[in-house]
Amino acid sequence: MLTSIQGKTVIVTGGSKGIGKGIASVFAKQGAKVMIAARGESSAKEAIEEIKTAGGTAEYYLCDVSNWEQVQALVDHTENTFGPVDILCANAGTFPQKKIVDLSPEAWDDIMSTNLKSTFLCVKACIPQFEKLGKGRVVVTSSITGPITGYPGWAHYGATKAGQLGFMKTAAMELARYNTTINAVMPGNIVTEGLASLGEDYLNSMAAAIPLKRLGAVEDIANAALFFASDEAAYITGQQMVIDGGQTLPECVEAVDEI
Ligand code: NAP
Repeated sequence: MLTSIQGKTVIVTGGSKGIGKGIASVFAKQGAKVMIAARGESSAKEAIEEIKTAGGTAEYYLCDVSNWEQVQALVDHTENTFGPVDILCANAGTFPQKKIVDLSPEAWDDIMSTNLKSTFLCVKACIPQFEKLGKGRVVVTSSITGPITGYPGWAHYGATKAGQLGFMKTAAMELARYNTTINAVMPGNIVTEGLASLGEDYLNSMAAAIPLKRLGAVEDIANAALFFASDEAAYITGQQMVIDGGQTLPECVEAVDEI
């Protein structure tokens, strides 16, 4: 199943850590040629070494996804290294926690750039690639936070994650002329470097609120991204998939205790 990933050129933004690293390694296991984009060199290097040791093909390119020139350079570099880009996984993102009362206008703009503007820039930069190939795939990493749930300190973050879905709906229509689909994964709480930094109390309280009684693994998200990127998902576009262990289902806190 999903043999269509074999030999494809894939960009994974934020592929050096967490969910992106999981996506990069699952795609590489399926035979894709993976370009990891991130700002920090040491984790990017480590991520591609792990993939190569496991027999996969991967390189990295240092890039700030909120910068248009750097994103264009990433796409050019990927094409020169592996051939035209078949699949874009627009995954890079940050989730600094700050309540509205303490949130500065500058911090608002920063997260809009990193999480939302970057999605637009990466998609825009890949359109000529998809046009050249006559097909393409985009998988966006959104979240449950924003489109479905709220959490104090993440108004700005939630706005970016809901914004990505708003962008996706019209992008799906515009990309159709290039035979390209765009879909979004919406993770619940997934164990990553970024999430771990929120502390053990946060992780424990989240796990207790999830019907499947565990936080997600990066592979849980990567497998959904793999499906959206496959030929088998050719007729699905502009859609979103929640992958949260049932976290958004309970009507009240007590409902989880009834399980
Ligand atoms: P993470 O472990 O902190 O990893 C974030 C990745 O993004 C790193 O590779 C980081 O590398 C890269 N990155 C951050 N800012 C960047 C920028 N300006 N330019 C290029 N790369 C950048 O985070 P994660 O938990 O895997 O989250 C990944 C995505 O999943 C995010 O979009 C997040 O909103 C979403 N998500 C996560 C969870 C969760 O529970 N973990 C839940 C829902 C949604 P550098 O810092 O080196 O650039």
